[in-house]
Amino acid sequence: MDINLAISQGSKILRNKYIPNSQLDAEILMAQTINKDRNYILLNFNTFLNKKDLDNFNKLIEERSLGKPVAHLINRKFFWSSEFFVTNNTLIPRPDTELIVENVLRLTKQKNKINILDIGVGSGCILLSILKERHNFYGTGIDISKKCLNISKINAINLKVNTRLKLYKSDVDKFNLGKYDLIVSNPPYIKSNKIKYLERDVANFEPKLALDGGLDGLSEIRKVIKKSSELIKKNGMFILEIGFDQKNKVINLLNKEGFYINSTQKDLAKNDRCIVSTKI
Ligand code: GLN
Repeated sequence: MDINLAISQGSKILRNKYIPNSQLDAEILMAQTINKDRNYILLNFNTFLNKKDLDNFNKLIEERSLGKPVAHLINRKFFWSSEFFVTNNTLIPRPDTELIVENVLRLTKQKNKINILDIGVGSGCILLSILKERHNFYGTGIDISKKCLNISKINAINLKVNTRLKLYKSDVDKFNLGKYDLIVSNPPYIKSNKIKYLERDVANFEPKLALDGGLDGLSEIRKVIKKSSELIKKNGMFILEIGFDQKNKVINLLNKEGFYINSTQKDLAKNDRCIVSTKI
């Protein structure tokens, strides 16, 4: 069977299971199977596929048809300007979260040697993207999940920023090390009882630890704001990702902890997603 036919059969299986980008997903999974990039696939539609590759491809299609995210099947996800290693232990980096990176780069053009803390560092996508862009910045990442820290370590080595990075396994409440010029965080902020209504790929396959924000969705955000207020330097910047309906509540929480709101931003779907504040 040639690549073209295998992809169109695979894509049809995905479409029948209501996977939205079935053709694209099938092409990516084919590229993974034969260890080439997607351009190769597009230019070599008629190349013959051996039995072993066809079996492997069909296995991936089967898993995708059950909702397993492509990022988990190929163990990587592109974010900002790099590819990140991911597993089912980390939240898959989202384009919306690039807002945090954009803000940091915009607001630190004149800065030198600043210390950044990322609370709930996960795959490392936010902090490591910043360190990769700014060669004289230093990063500290904390996470409650040791598995995530192992993954962010691997990503830091791949991106060659590991010498400027420290990682600690810690609960946000219990972390008391250092003072930071800038704090970033994408904490879990989905209401516990709403997780089951997220897209199937997310609800069934991504770590609850990275999504579940408790009964009102704000349990972790509250802790992150409180801790940031202790760990941030005066006039330090705090950039936080939030849920689509949390802007006003989070602004109140920030004000109570002595943060001035500089700006809020919407994501690609026009939902409030990011708050930039300064400790006064
Ligand atoms: N934005 C993610 C989602 O909707 C949630 C991320 C988070 O809780 N920090 O799936």
